[in-house]
Amino acid sequence: MKKSDVIVVGAGLGGLTSAALLSRRENTEVTVFERMSFAGGRFTQHDHDGFQIPTGAVHTIPHGKKGPFSKLILGDRSRGGLDLGKRGVDFLPTTKFAGMWRDRKHYSCKSVFGILPWFPVSNTLNMPRLLASRAKHPWRDENIDGKTWLKKMFTEDFIDFLESFSNFAISLRFDQMPASTVARMLQNSFWSDKPHIPKGGCKGVIDGLRHDLRDNGVRVKLSHEITEILPGSEEEATKESRFCVGIRRRGREGAAWIGADAIIHNGGHPNLLNSLSEDFEISEEIKRKVGRTQAVGGIGFVFGLDENIPQKDSAVTMIPGEGRLGGYVIPTFSEPALAPEGRHMMITHQYVPDATVKSEITKGRDEIYEAVPWLSDHAEELCVHSYHRNWPCNRAPMGSELPSDIGVEGIRMVGDGVKGHGWMMIEGIASNVPKAVKEISSGLG
Ligand SMILES: Cc1cc2nc3c(=O)[nH]c(=O)nc-3n(C[C@H](O)[C@H](O)[C@H](O)COP(=O)(O)OP(=O)(O)OC[C@H]3O[C@@H](n4cnc5c(N)ncnc54)[C@H](O)[C@@H]3O)c2cc1C
Repeated sequence: MKKSDVIVVGAGLGGLTSAALLSRRENTEVTVFERMSFAGGRFTQHDHDGFQIPTGAVHTIPHGKKGPFSKLILGDRSRGGLDLGKRGVDFLPTTKFAGMWRDRKHYSCKSVFGILPWFPVSNTLNMPRLLASRAKHPWRDENIDGKTWLKKMFTEDFIDFLESFSNFAISLRFDQMPASTVARMLQNSFWSDKPHIPKGGCKGVIDGLRHDLRDNGVRVKLSHEITEILPGSEEEATKESRFCVGIRRRGREGAAWIGADAIIHNGGHPNLLNSLSEDFEISEEIKRKVGRTQAVGGIGFVFGLDENIPQKDSAVTMIPGEGRLGGYVIPTFSEPALAPEGRHMMITHQYVPDATVKSEITKGRDEIYEAVPWLSDHAEELCVHSYHRNWPCNRAPMGSELPSDIGVEGIRMVGDGVKGHGWMMIEGIASNVPKAVKEISSGLG
């Protein structure tokens, strides 16, 4: 019997986890193509004198061992997980649940309930209203934004705090998201685990995935870009397949054609739509939705710290009320291997209100030195990253609800363009991958 050929476009978390799930399937040949010279996309790191500098993610698993990401990566095979604990993947808890700077005073707490005493008691009394709101699905005819909705229940200082978390985590303000998305995101954060740091950083997870893929016969071809997707009948060599896929190897002119029976795409909706030939009909509604969606940008500083810093925890620390900065994390208090011995690493994140990245970097730097009084005495700036266009923080903002199925049989989108409702960051990616893989598998027979 002919094996089914599945191509995965992009070796980000979405692509690698999809490939790993597909590799469990009998009679299926899976190949991952990645245009960059490394795997992991925005969830890996590069070594800089012993500091593990992220390509994106700040080495944080938002919902620790209770979220969709943990279920997918560490979960039992019998329950649809990849069981990568066997490959040495592990998640280490942050030493505190959360932290905050307000008026140059530092707060921290061990559980979600520890946050509430930082704010007027009316916020605690109104918390059940937030938690009991029905928000598992987007609200029908939704016409209220998250901030307006939260203002009905909470005081301004508490909203500022929650908003700095949203800024840090997803580079968005609450008034940029539908209320049901904000409600569900906060509910998910309330009920789940404290954040965790992957052992060995983001790359620890990627290495585990690559090990698993190797053992299951999946090839990951780096420096190969998918440029076009045509019907299989377009080329003699691919006429037995549903798709004919153009691949360009870095540094070479022209594309080679290979056949595929199904495609999982991890490179974002605009990228997929651009590569599809006119033989595939995409509805005007999908085109409009994708066209209207703007990738979300952000800026992050990485500091090397000495070991005498007064704050000694790896909690996500929020800085409410600032124009740009959301917060920071010092992951080395959970995973010391991310910095050279005797040093720590701090990673900040801020949203970008407009496209003037250069001046935003200067303003963000001023804000962080102003908010954290000990920083200037203990830190060395290692680098600053900006995320936009083809390498954004998020390809689709939370709440945009772009579909995994764009209406072409045999193709599904994965990755941060298609997060499940209210699941943020990699939790959102993991919430969608199993469904996309199941749909692709059922079409293969
Ligand atoms: C600054 C920052 C901080 C973050 N912090 C966190 C965090 O701490 N925790 C968290 O959970 N999330 C975090 N995130 C979000 C998280 O990093 C991303 O959601 C996640 O890494 C995205 O994975 P992905 O698979 O969707 O896409 P990507 O990682 O972008 O992978 C897509 C891959 O596809 C490749 N590709 C695209 N087009 C093609 C093509 N045509 N042919 C071949 N290859 C192609 C790209 O090169 C890329 O490698 C952060 C993001 C940023 C930017």
